[in-house]
Amino acid sequence: MAPIELHANPKLVEKFHQFLNERNCRHTPERDIVLRKALEWNKHFSIDELYQALSQSGTIVSRATVYNTVELLCEAQILRRIHVDLRRVRYEQLENTNYIHLVCNECGKIKEVRDNGLTAHMNARSFTAFHSSYFTICVYGICNACARKKKKPRQ
Ligand SMILES: [Zn+2]
Repeated sequence: MAPIELHANPKLVEKFHQFLNERNCRHTPERDIVLRKALEWNKHFSIDELYQALSQSGTIVSRATVYNTVELLCEAQILRRIHVDLRRVRYEQLENTNYIHLVCNECGKIKEVRDNGLTAHMNARSFTAFHSSYFTICVYGICNACARKKKKPRQ
């Protein structure tokens, strides 16, 4: 197995191990590899991209293990899902909450923009009979690159 770069936030690694213990889930080396690769990723990724990155680094982990581990990471509130549409899901670290996501419905790319006023407002907001953990704001539309491709060439 190829050596793994250890850029993963140790606090989050610990959090996941605790989560697995509490759930009585097995703490396997494969899950650890997927965890670390996912945490090294500082952008949004899909299951396929994560699986390909692991394969390219010479790691043999099944696609099912990648999927299951990422789902567990979402339950542990380490990662969160961003739904591009009904078919496409991307993931990112839950800690990156200070962004608005601009989601392109054509290519599925996600761009982040900051809005400190909105973030402060949402963080201060409380809800009746509900305890919030985090929020995510997605604005759906079409990116410039896709909009250009859609335009018919001029005659
Ligand atoms: Zn696009």
